[in-house]
Order: sequence, then C-alpha cells, then structure tokens
Amino acid sequence: MSSVNTALNREPEALALPVGPLARRTPQDRYFEVWELLEAVCDPEIPVVNLREMGILRAVRSTAQTLEVILTPTYNGCPAVDQMHDDVASTLARAGLAASVRTCIAPAWSSDWLTPQAHDKLRHYVIAPPGACAASGQQLYVLQFAPINRAADAYQTAACPRCGSENTTCTSPFGSTACKALYRCLDCAEPFDYFKPY
Ligand SMILES: [Zn+2]
Repeated sequence: MSSVNTALNREPEALALPVGPLARRTPQDRYFEVWELLEAVCDPEIPVVNLREMGILRAVRSTAQTLEVILTPTYNGCPAVDQMHDDVASTLARAGLAASVRTCIAPAWSSDWLTPQAHDKLRHYVIAPPGACAASGQQLYVLQFAPINRAADAYQTAACPRCGSENTTCTSPFGSTACKALYRCLDCAEPFDYFKPY
C-alpha cells in the first residue's frame, strides 16, 4: 500500500517509552488490533520469537498524521532493522492500516526486555536465553558485545538448551550473530549459541 511510510527516523531524544518486557495486550487496549496483528511479526534472525517478545516492539500510538509503530533495535546498526520495518509496515498494510514505523534508540534496548515466553522459545530453538543484565535500567548508549568482565555470573552460567546442564564452556565470544556467543556443552558435547545479556 503506497500510503505506508517506512521512513527510518532516528531520534535520540527519549519519548515516554516503556522499559522492560511487554505483556500481550488485552482487548481493552486502544490499539489492541494493531498489537495483535504485530504478534505475527518475528525477529528476522530468530524467527520463533516475535518483536514484542524480543522487546523490540515498544509502542503503538497515533500522531496528528498517522498511526505510528516504534521499534527499538537490539543494537544500533543491527542489520535486521530494515527488514523489521518492512515486515511491520507490510503486515499492517495487508490489514488496510497505513502506519509510520519509527526507530527509537533511547532508552537503549536490554536483553532484560525479553519476555519469559521468549526465553522458552529460545531454548526450544537451541539458543540459551540471556542471564539477567546488571546494566539494565542504566539506559546505556554504548553496547558491549564482548564480555568486559569474564567473572560476571550471567556470562559464565549458560545452561545447555538441549540437556539443561550448566557444565558448559564458552568457545567463542561471537556466535552466529554479534549478539550471541558460541558455547559447548561438556555433558552432551553439543555446541549452542548463548544470547548475551546486554
Ligand atoms: Zn547439553
């Protein structure tokens, strides 16, 4: 639909955006229909988890001109951002809704924003979900993908998503994507990705 505007507006000033995991909306929510439609839009890199469960979908609101959907990417420069914008806009367009999709990078995304359902789905997808992030709530603007403190508990204890063993070892600080590390289980011997907390 040509009226859909997918302009990528990066605005550093903070909107009154929520922090933390967002629960599925109830029918009483003003934008319930939009939120429900967007339940079908998944993370391009982790297709079993939708954008709300990932903590990337932050807000739906109306401006004077249009319906606006606000996304916060997992990190600034994430290569999946354009794909996510297109997927949100096209999903709403198929339902006859024109929307502007906008990226906001403040407050910065945190892996603490993943919902409990996202953690379960990651494990089934053989990705160990992130441990709690000590920096959460500090609204960091600079992300650390590599561990700056290898003694950090959250980084050391990645339970194997296959067998549940915590007898695991990090074999590379980077896995299939920049936000994951590569681990190996010392009990079942299988490698797995660990979604790093940040
Ligand atoms: Zn294992």
